Amino acid sequence: MKHKVIVDFDICDSYGACVAAAPTVFDLDDEDELVVQQDTIGDDLRAQVTDAVARCPKRAIRIEAVGGDGGA
Ligand code: SF4
Repeated sequence: MKHKVIVDFDICDSYGACVAAAPTVFDLDDEDELVVQQDTIGDDLRAQVTDAVARCPKRAIRIEAVGGDGGA
């Protein structure tokens, strides 16, 4: 199942904790602004992004299931 990665950029403070947790999904650009490199992820990256959600001090990240195959 695919999941959409949603970041609330209004509250993100670019701490980069999410980058450490999921470096292929999140990155900081030259101006230390957060960049979401993949806004839709598969199960292979879900654990990393869940970790990023947990580590974000601003609680700026959430993931949402895409599609409707009834999974969680
Ligand atoms: S950990 Fe949270 S506040 Fe920090 S860069 Fe990532 S989304 Fe933004």
